[in-house]
Amino acid sequence: MAPRLRSVENHRAERVGVPAPAPADLGAATASVRGLSRRFGDRAVLDDLDLDIAPGEFVALIGRSGSGKSTLLRALAGLDRSVTGELTVNGTVAVAFQEPRLVPWKRVLANVCLGLRVADARAAAGAALAEVGLTERADAWPLTLSGGEAQRASLARALVREPRLLLLDEPFSALDALTTITMHRLVVRLWAHHEPAVLLVTHDVDEALTLADRVLVLAGGRIGFSCRIEAPRPRDRNQPELTALRTRLLAELGVDTEGTK
Ligand code: ADP
Ligand code: MG
Repeated sequence: MAPRLRSVENHRAERVGVPAPAPADLGAATASVRGLSRRFGDRAVLDDLDLDIAPGEFVALIGRSGSGKSTLLRALAGLDRSVTGELTVNGTVAVAFQEPRLVPWKRVLANVCLGLRVADARAAAGAALAEVGLTERADAWPLTLSGGEAQRASLARALVREPRLLLLDEPFSALDALTTITMHRLVVRLWAHHEPAVLLVTHDVDEALTLADRVLVLAGGRIGFSCRIEAPRPRDRNQPELTALRTRLLAELGVDTEGTK
């Protein structure tokens, strides 16, 4: 089958992080999707979509509002049984959503333990909270947390499951700019330490450029565009290669950047 993906491979800055899949690696992909479709009524939101995510790869998925990003993520999480096509995920999957979705009548530690089936769930949850810098808030009620703290708790709850595929659905979009920068650093640190494959859904092109090994654009129910980012981390968003990619990605999203910086 002819690939539908268009990709740019002309960014040759020194490469850091985990490489995106070479064709020979695809048999070992952490997530593999073939011909995935999802209809709501007459509308095909996902339409014969193909995607592979390599072990340890950090992929960002961008797309216009309503383009089907969350629908794809829910399918990968196994939360949508009405999709058609082939979908294979090797290993545990964990999800963090835009709203942290903490249970309000359980304290933070108990939220992280929720549904966890390991020998010492409290110890594992405590270690995850330490990793996200939330040890002091372990006994707090969720409603007393700041937005950033709640997202840290949500990340701890995902991490404690030791996922091979970590799905993040716009997890930082409700946070203020400074908190978001801190969260970006935290996510990169956690990713480097635990090495899950990550699929980050975001509507923020700069967030995708800051974090990902590969950026995908979802349009028309398929991955319409894909590019690798090989700039070392931490990244400076004003690097020329990132500036060029930003312009390209915005064009793929249908945003006219003429006359703007
Ligand atoms: P995105 O996350 O890219 O903003 P979504 O995946 O949430 O988009 O939704 C894609 C499209 O599918 C939207 O038009 C949305 O209204 C529609 N949709 C999503 N879930 C449902 C549902 N359960 N029933 C009907 N339509 C839905
Ligand atoms: Mg969404």
